[in-house]
Amino acid sequence: MSKVSIMGVNFDAISKAEAVERAMQLLREQRKGYVVTPNSEIVYMAKDDPELIGLLNGASLALPDGVGILHAAKILGKPIYEKVAGVEFAVDLLAEMAKENRSLYLLGAKPGVARKAAENLVKRFPGLKISGCHDGYFTEEQDVVDTINASGHTDVVFVCLGAPKQERFIHQHMQEINATLFCGLGGSLDIYAGTAQRAPKFYVDHGLEWLYRLKQEPWRAKRMSKLPLFLLRAMKCKVTGKETP
Ligand code: UDP
Repeated sequence: MSKVSIMGVNFDAISKAEAVERAMQLLREQRKGYVVTPNSEIVYMAKDDPELIGLLNGASLALPDGVGILHAAKILGKPIYEKVAGVEFAVDLLAEMAKENRSLYLLGAKPGVARKAAENLVKRFPGLKISGCHDGYFTEEQDVVDTINASGHTDVVFVCLGAPKQERFIHQHMQEINATLFCGLGGSLDIYAGTAQRAPKFYVDHGLEWLYRLKQEPWRAKRMSKLPLFLLRAMKCKVTGKETP
């Protein structure tokens, strides 16, 4: 499987449909693995954090979640042409899982959100089994691991704690959790529950999803200021010919 490195983070340059197919393959072969969906903020953050690079590069699938990654790929002359938003990948994965009556555990978001998301998802994908839900505001990780395992075997766990917390949780606990595939999906449960809205099509089509999010959640301004810095860094890599600045 060929990976494309953007500043040290190895992405799978594949379509959403291919990503879903690979994820289903892991499930059918019962091969434990995890999916990460880094955006430019995370790649920017990772350059000072070798542990985070390791977590991202240890994934079975790393999907480019955001136009920032595509812009950087263009600057660096790397072959990533399609954004694969984690929230959309996960919906298509659930459609395939439902056909095979597979089970899902939802972990993350504020109390009540995962349950509401589960209700909406089973309505949307009859056949999908929900093995359990847990909010993302806990102190004892081991209690959460035990709770997930008490719900029996689950095929997939959506771990939605924000990055890099979710990647750390997955890496730390995946071997002891009775599940096959783990997907780190940031704020996706809020979208599925309807407690947050995705950007309208116009914003998505024009690569302006970040602007919509900024309008909805102005506190993100500091985090988002990393985007231009990230692109500047890509230019620096291009000029110096180095993989990482
Ligand atoms: N969250 C959580 N536990 C925490 C911190 C955050 O469950 O300790 C949830 C939060 O409620 C939200 C998601 O993680 O549902 C983070 O969403 P965001 O859109 O910020 O994700 P990111 O942009 O980091 O992927």
